[in-house]
Amino acid sequence: MDFQNSSISVLVVDDNQMNIDLLVNMLVRYDYEVHTAMRGNTAIEIAQREIPNIILLDITMPGMNGYETCRAIKKIEALAEIPIIFISALDDTNDIIEGFEAGAVDYITKPFKYREVIARLQTQLTLAEQKREIEMLRAREQQSYESMDKLRAQFIGSATHDLKNPLFVISGYADILEMTPLIQEDEQVLGFVNSIQRGVTKMSDLVHDILDLLQLETQVTLEKMPVDFATFIKQIGNDMDFRASEKNISLTIFPPSENATIYVDAKRIGRVLENLVSNAIKYTPEDGHVEIVGKVGFSSVIIEVIDDGLGIPKDALPTLFQPFQRVTSEEHMAQEGTGLGLSIVKTLVEQHNGTIEVDTKLGEGSCFKVTLPMQ
Ligand code: ADP
Repeated sequence: MDFQNSSISVLVVDDNQMNIDLLVNMLVRYDYEVHTAMRGNTAIEIAQREIPNIILLDITMPGMNGYETCRAIKKIEALAEIPIIFISALDDTNDIIEGFEAGAVDYITKPFKYREVIARLQTQLTLAEQKREIEMLRAREQQSYESMDKLRAQFIGSATHDLKNPLFVISGYADILEMTPLIQEDEQVLGFVNSIQRGVTKMSDLVHDILDLLQLETQVTLEKMPVDFATFIKQIGNDMDFRASEKNISLTIFPPSENATIYVDAKRIGRVLENLVSNAIKYTPEDGHVEIVGKVGFSSVIIEVIDDGLGIPKDALPTLFQPFQRVTSEEHMAQEGTGLGLSIVKTLVEQHNGTIEVDTKLGEGSCFKVTLPMQ
C-alpha cells in the first residue's frame, strides 16, 4: 500500500528523551508527522487531540506504565482501533506477552534498528488500513442487505394483494360461469371454463409458494414451543391420510419407541412434514406405500418420509433443494408442481439448525431424512 507519509501521524511515548530523539529522527526522515509524550497520561491527552494513525509506546515509564496506558487507550472508543507497538528494553517474552494481552499489535526492541522500526510500523499501518477498508465494505454490504430486505418486504406486501386479488376474481367468475346453465349445455365452452380454472389453480399455487418462500426467508423468528414428538408425527400422518387414500396408497406411521419433547416452531415443522408426505404421495403411483418414521437420538430427532414411488435420478440431486427445480421426466411432470416445495422445506429445517438429506433410486423410491436438534 502506498502511503503519503506526511499525512500519517505517529505518537511516540517514551520517558527517555534520547529514545524519543532517536525515533523522531528516524520517522521524520520518512516524512511522518510525529507527536511525542513522556508520560502515559500526557500520551492519552495527545492521542485524544491528535488521533494518531499509530502509537509507539514504551513499557517502562514512571507513573502509568506502558501496559496501563495501552489498556486505557483501548478503552476510549475513538482511540481503540489505533495500532499500538510496544517498545521493549529486552527481548523478554513475558514483557511481549503482557503487551499483546494489553492490546498491542507488535513490539520493537531497544537498541532500535532503524530498518526494523520502519518495517514494523509500515506493516501495522498497512494492516490497519486494510482493516478499515474491510470494515467499510462490510458496512456497505450490510446496508445493501438491509435495503434488499426492505424491498423484499415491500414486494411481499404489495404482491400479496396485487397478484392474489386478480386470481380470486378470475377464479370466482370461472366458478360462476361453470354453474351457468347455458355454459353447462355447451361441452366445448365448459371445457374452456375448466381450462381457465386449472390455469388459475396452477397460478395461485405458484404465487402462494413464491410469496411463502420470500416471507419465510425474511421472517426468521421462530415461535418455538415444546412438542411431544410421537403425537406430532401421528397428527401429521392422520392429517395426510385422506390424500393417500385418494390414490389407494397405504400411509403407515412408525412413531419413535422412546418419548421425546422437541422445541420447535410446530407450524413450520408441520409444513416440512406435510410437504414431504404430500410429495411422497404425489410422486408414488396408485397402490404404493408411504411411511413416516420417527427416531429419537441423543440430542436430536430424525424423521424419515419413505416411499416406493418414482424415485429421483442422480443428476437431479445436486439442485433438488433449489427453487424451481423439478425432475423433467414425463412421469414426474405429469404431477402438478411448482418446484418450490423442497426449497421451502430446506429453509424451514435450516432455520431450526437441522439438516435434510435424501436417499433415492429412480424407479424404486425415495427416503427424505430430516434431523432436528431437540432444543
Ligand atoms: P413440486 O412442487 O414440483 O413437487 P418440490 O420442490 O416439492 O416441487 O420438489 C421438487 C421436485 O423433486 C419435484 O418436482 C419432483 O420431481 C421431485 N420430488 C420431490 N419429492 C419426490 C419424491 N418423494 N419422489 C420422487 N420425486 C420427488
